Amino acid sequence: MDLRKTADQYNSQLTDKTSVEKLKFLAEQHPGKVVFTTSFGYEDQVITDMIFDNDIDIKMITLDTGRLFPETYKVFRSTVERYKKEIQVYFPPADKVEEMVTRKGPFSFYESLENRKECCFIRKVIPLKRALSGNEIWITGLRASQSDNRSDMKEFEVDEGNNIVKCNPLKDWDLDKTIDYVKEKRIPYNVLHDKGFVSIGCQPCTRAIQPGEDFRAGRWWWEQGSGKECGLHEVKK
Ligand code: SF4
Repeated sequence: MDLRKTADQYNSQLTDKTSVEKLKFLAEQHPGKVVFTTSFGYEDQVITDMIFDNDIDIKMITLDTGRLFPETYKVFRSTVERYKKEIQVYFPPADKVEEMVTRKGPFSFYESLENRKECCFIRKVIPLKRALSGNEIWITGLRASQSDNRSDMKEFEVDEGNNIVKCNPLKDWDLDKTIDYVKEKRIPYNVLHDKGFVSIGCQPCTRAIQPGEDFRAGRWWWEQGSGKECGLHEVKK
């Protein structure tokens, strides 16, 4: 599959379709090769509902870094209970985690940007590559208004590193619309959202934000100028 051609074609041809119609279209065009990664935030819960509620044939997966909040595991459980469908879990490679934590300790990510990126690479990027391997379309819950880094994102992008076309069906949604969808349909959500956590990742690396702070300010808050990304979403548009 020509990734660039496919992304450009979908960006120009699918503009009139709703998000659900786009997901159905992708599942039909790429049978068995569409995957959605959820971390159970508001945005991911919207897409999960669209997929599960409409029985769309898209694989649902989550990355368990081993450092998630208990609240995240709770929304994982309540989501599976609500829809009565499975979410495939991917763990990081045990030998690499054991070696890193033995050598550098359990909080190495606070000590340098290099250490933090190493931890994100082992706990997130490696399992993501495994999850995406062999697939053609990767659905994400990214929104353009989440951060400056994402402001110029397109709905369909090429991720050359993972050899896949990435689809961001909520690209143009704002936070209010996202929350309204979740609340109106009574979808389970992470209760940390009610405590000022907007972007929720690993427990030691996420804090609540204050009114007026940037959406991503609560992620790796001790870093300056790192771009506040973990390596999962570094793509060529
Ligand atoms: Fe490690 Fe923190 Fe990255 Fe999670 S967010 S993988 S704990 S550095």
